[in-house]
Amino acid sequence: MELGSNFAADKSSVNKEYVQAHNVERDINRWVRSSGSSSSINLEVAQQQQINHDKRRALHKIHDITNGTEKLSISLFDEIGNEHLPNFVYIPQNIIYQCAYVHVSLARIADEDCCASCAGDCLSSSFPCACARDTGGDFAYTPKGLLKKEFLRACISMNEEPQKHYQFYCPDCPLERAKNAYTPANCKGHLVRKFIKECWRKCRCSMQCGNRVVQRGITRKLQVFLTDEGKGWGLRTLEELPEGSFVCEYVGEILTNMELYERNKRSSSKGKDRHTYPVLLDADWGSEGVLKDEDALCLDATYYGNVARFINHRCFDANLLEIPVEVETPDHHYYHLAFFTKRKVHALEELTWDYGIDFNDHNHPIEAFQCSCGSAYCRYAKGKKLPLFDVISPKIFHQN
Ligand SMILES: [Zn+2]
Ligand SMILES: [Zn+2]
Ligand SMILES: [Zn+2]
Ligand SMILES: [Zn+2]
Repeated sequence: MELGSNFAADKSSVNKEYVQAHNVERDINRWVRSSGSSSSINLEVAQQQQINHDKRRALHKIHDITNGTEKLSISLFDEIGNEHLPNFVYIPQNIIYQCAYVHVSLARIADEDCCASCAGDCLSSSFPCACARDTGGDFAYTPKGLLKKEFLRACISMNEEPQKHYQFYCPDCPLERAKNAYTPANCKGHLVRKFIKECWRKCRCSMQCGNRVVQRGITRKLQVFLTDEGKGWGLRTLEELPEGSFVCEYVGEILTNMELYERNKRSSSKGKDRHTYPVLLDADWGSEGVLKDEDALCLDATYYGNVARFINHRCFDANLLEIPVEVETPDHHYYHLAFFTKRKVHALEELTWDYGIDFNDHNHPIEAFQCSCGSAYCRYAKGKKLPLFDVISPKIFHQN
């Protein structure tokens, strides 16, 4: 998602290679002029220009940004020029940074959290098995691996009109505690979301079971490309995607909110760039009572992440929707955040996601953010004083 590119001021390190290459050319040309031209010097200049040109072109195409870690390669393509390459380590799965408590064990999976008597494909059995319990006794996926329409509609409605759905208010909010341990502010509320639960290791079905979609990883042809609307890098699909298709999950370091808060403070005090939007894993905080700090988790894809870090924000009418998916752990404090298409998406269309930015949240003012999503429903009111953000909730960005 390369958030920094949404900021008008994030151009400081852009063009470094270009500037260097042009400096070399300029110096050579100056030297040629001062020493009098000769055909061999001109040839050298031409060769040098060709090398610079090739070097620049080579910088604009990466065959596989995943370094072979995904089942298919994902290229990076810059048909415009002028953008520095993203600097991060590609990881195909989430990884714990340090203090986050994510306990994966067979012993924690109870009989009602798996299907020990299924075989083959759970979707084709006459009665939905225990693994459909989280989705109301009916599987969320169709035999083609798409989200069922009703399930998708319910999730879209929840995202578009969160005020009409159940919000949980923590008695002692871990987010507010991370910001201010002594006098934490009141919880701002968390949307209680619908979960999908996939079959996993203790289930007796096969890996081809229709209730295993997200865990099989990326299967669609995707490409990172340079957008021409000034949003920097973006992600697009190279094939047509039907409504309800799984695209990818949001992968990053698993941090506690406390760790994210500390990390943000450090990077802002050092004036470092932050380029991705941290994701808060708060979809089911309401059922867990008072959460300990090591259980209040988020994902940060700034330094380690997957292709989802390039998905740009779009207010309201984005074509992707994020859905919490439980795979390894039956409790919901850790889960996978998976992106599905809200509608049919054409080949070469940019994939976008509504980060849920509240442009009126003026608490803890830190940075200005200028949304350039291009949506007719853009929540960022033009001409207003620039909106300001908070450091830790997912409503927050840093640009410097
Ligand atoms: Zn199954
Ligand atoms: Zn089953
Ligand atoms: Zn809270
Ligand atoms: Zn199962």
